[in-house]
Amino acid sequence: MTTQNRGTVKVENGRYRVSGNFHYAYPNEPIRDESGKLLGITNPADMTHIHAYGGEAPFFENLSNAKLLGTKCANPKCETYGSVYIPYRIHCPDCLMRNEEVDLTELARKGASVHTFMITERTGAFNTLEKPIRFVNVEFEGVSTILMGYLSIGEPTIGMKVVPIFQTKNPTFTIMDLSWVPAGTSAADLPEGFSF
Ligand SMILES: [Zn+2]
Repeated sequence: MTTQNRGTVKVENGRYRVSGNFHYAYPNEPIRDESGKLLGITNPADMTHIHAYGGEAPFFENLSNAKLLGTKCANPKCETYGSVYIPYRIHCPDCLMRNEEVDLTELARKGASVHTFMITERTGAFNTLEKPIRFVNVEFEGVSTILMGYLSIGEPTIGMKVVPIFQTKNPTFTIMDLSWVPAGTSAADLPEGFSF
C-alpha cells in the first residue's frame, strides 16, 4: 500500500477543491493469545484531516508574524461592551455580534503571567513537544479569558511573568507556533526557529 498522491486542497473562487487521496487502509493483523486464540485485530488506517480555520484564520496566520491577536466586543449596547477575549472569539458570547480584532502582542509582552500550570509526562497521539510538557494558563491584564499555552524554558510557578515567543521560521500555522518563556529570557536561549 502506497500513500502517494496524498490529498491536497486548493481554493478556487472561494471554494475548496480537493484532489488526491485522503484515506488509506492497510491489511489488518490478528491479535492472538499465547495458545493462538483470536482476541481481536489491529486496524491500521491513515487519514488526512481537513481543518478549516474559518474566522479564526487571522489568529493562526499572525502567529507566524510574531503577533498575538485577540478580539473585543465593539457593540456599545452590549452589557459586556469592550470585553477582550483570547482565545480569539469571533462573536461576543453575550450579544453574539461579530467581535473586533485587537492586537494583544504588546500587552502580552508587558503584562502576562502564569495563572496556573500543569506538567505532563503523558501526551496524546502525534505530540511533537519535548516531554515533560509544561502547560501554562496565561493571564493578561484587562483580558476576560485565560489562554492555554506551553512554557519552552524554565519551570513554571503561579504568578510568574512570562512573554510570548513565536515560531516565525518554518511556522506550522497551528497553536504550536506560540510558546512562552520567563520574562527576561535572552534571545540567544530561545528554541530553534522562535523569536520574540
Ligand atoms: Zn457583546
